[in-house]
Amino acid sequence: MPLLKTPAITLNSRKWGEADRIVTFYTLRFGKLRGVARGARRMKSRFGSALEPFVQCELNLFEKHGDSLYRITQADIREAFVGLREDLTLMSGAARLANLVAAVTGEGDQGPRIFETLVSGFRSLEDGNDPALTTLLYQIKLLGLTGFRPQTDHCTACSAAVGPTSGTVLRQFAPTSGGLVCPDCARRRPERCLPISPGSLALLQQALRWTPDVVTRLKATGQVRAELEAVIEAYVTVVTGKHLPPANFLAAEGNPQAYGTRD
Ligand SMILES: [Zn+2]
Repeated sequence: MPLLKTPAITLNSRKWGEADRIVTFYTLRFGKLRGVARGARRMKSRFGSALEPFVQCELNLFEKHGDSLYRITQADIREAFVGLREDLTLMSGAARLANLVAAVTGEGDQGPRIFETLVSGFRSLEDGNDPALTTLLYQIKLLGLTGFRPQTDHCTACSAAVGPTSGTVLRQFAPTSGGLVCPDCARRRPERCLPISPGSLALLQQALRWTPDVVTRLKATGQVRAELEAVIEAYVTVVTGKHLPPANFLAAEGNPQAYGTRD
């Protein structure tokens, strides 16, 4: 069994057996994967704090034939992101990004840009001064790298153009369709659509277009921000199949479900 190595970020983990842990990672080389870390819950575990949520580590692991769970043999911290676990607001934002990645990616689908965007999002959260906006922008960036990229230039139902330059009619975003719908289609849809003004739509398009290293230069206040927050909240709820946890998942150690996503 060849030993594999990859940079990885811990998305979530849960207790397993007496002293072990099953950890879900997003890795640079292999996308999302789950692995067993034997003895990870012992006082003097060889993994130390490398398997804490949000930590970026260098992971050594191997695949066991006929088992979807990898065996983790070593994890060395590359970037601890301590600040994300010490501040409730930052922790909440980081958990949203981690949960979103866990929910919208499939095991074994490679996505180095998703990995890099998640790392960039964690750094921006740790460095920045508006964690709620940073979380919003990085959720958009991460969605944009998956099959859940929000559709922002034509109606997802009839393909009519409804971008910011197509007249003055109020645009609507349909979370269950993953994008804009034109007024005619909005009227015919039974599910809830959310209004999105030209300013909010332009911000969404910029956030999708700008690279992760500059996306936090985007500023948003007032109605534009509130609208985009509502749209992304509703859409992320649809794509993850549930409401993501707010900031009250601190009991994760005692209650793995509070922090887990799809296990
Ligand atoms: Zn339409």
